[in-house]
Amino acid sequence: DCAAPPQLLSPHSVTDLLHSVDAFLFDCDGVIWKGDKLIDGVPQTLQMLRSKGKKLVFVTNNSTKSRRHYAKKFHSLGISVSEEEIFSSSFAAAMFLKVHDFPREKKVYVIGEEGILEELELEGFTGLGGPEDGKKMVQLKPNCLFEHDKSVGAVVVGLDQYINYYKLQYATLCIRENPGCLFIATNRDAVGHMTDLQEWPGAGCMVAAVCGSTQKEPIVVGKPSTFMMDFLLKKFQITTSRMCMVGDRLDTDILFGQNAGCRTLLVLSGVTTQSGLQDPSNHIQPEYYTSKVSDLLNLLGP
Ligand code: PLP
Ligand code: CA
Repeated sequence: DCAAPPQLLSPHSVTDLLHSVDAFLFDCDGVIWKGDKLIDGVPQTLQMLRSKGKKLVFVTNNSTKSRRHYAKKFHSLGISVSEEEIFSSSFAAAMFLKVHDFPREKKVYVIGEEGILEELELEGFTGLGGPEDGKKMVQLKPNCLFEHDKSVGAVVVGLDQYINYYKLQYATLCIRENPGCLFIATNRDAVGHMTDLQEWPGAGCMVAAVCGSTQKEPIVVGKPSTFMMDFLLKKFQITTSRMCMVGDRLDTDILFGQNAGCRTLLVLSGVTTQSGLQDPSNHIQPEYYTSKVSDLLNLLGP
């Protein structure tokens, strides 16, 4: 907790960083894009990093899309990224079940959107709920009993624009009536950029609703939990000390990088402001900070 104050990125430190790092992990919203809008200079910067042989990985806590969808989004913004380079919290939820040998005959109840269901399906898991339950209503009449599928062995909660009382009752019964039922949260972000001009309630708010009704705490698979980091380290065989995590949030991205022993770079193009960074009550501090990702290119010079 007496960490050195963050250094403003300089031509000298960029050169040094590029020499000492083999892989860059990029957070997406606030770093690559804001909502659906590309942040200035990103494609050129990623191109420069690729031309120097750096491995690039993209890690997003937004669970609403699958990796396939994110690859399309990158493509539509003029950035060529493969699915293999993308780690979304929707994918992390499916990978968590896979690495923990969740039985394929059990089902997964989802409070969340298409991204989670698609990733579950790609791994051969049966998802229930999600968008399909978006229009369902509960009947609060005397003697009515809410029925749920007893073969549900896990509940996954992520951002759900169509969350309702039906889904909350479903998830609550699965968790409360089956003590072995896993309760997985894709992430606990308080807010997210569902649009580029405004922040909206994030998955943290849906997760908190289920914590409230079950009095249980979830397993979080998104940042800052180390699950995705451990997973991608195994997959790519990279050394954390030669990796740099680039993000716009201290409590998810920078903490995620620091927990793993990565170098860290905070960009001020997202949720953290310069005064927020310098607030003395912050106990999470990046190694470097700069205004936006393209500073990596511009500070490097010709
Ligand atoms: N969750 C939701 C619903 C979001 O809309 C966002 C950002 O848009 C995030 C999480 C954070 O995403 P990231 O980890 O890419 O910053
Ligand atoms: Ca972000």
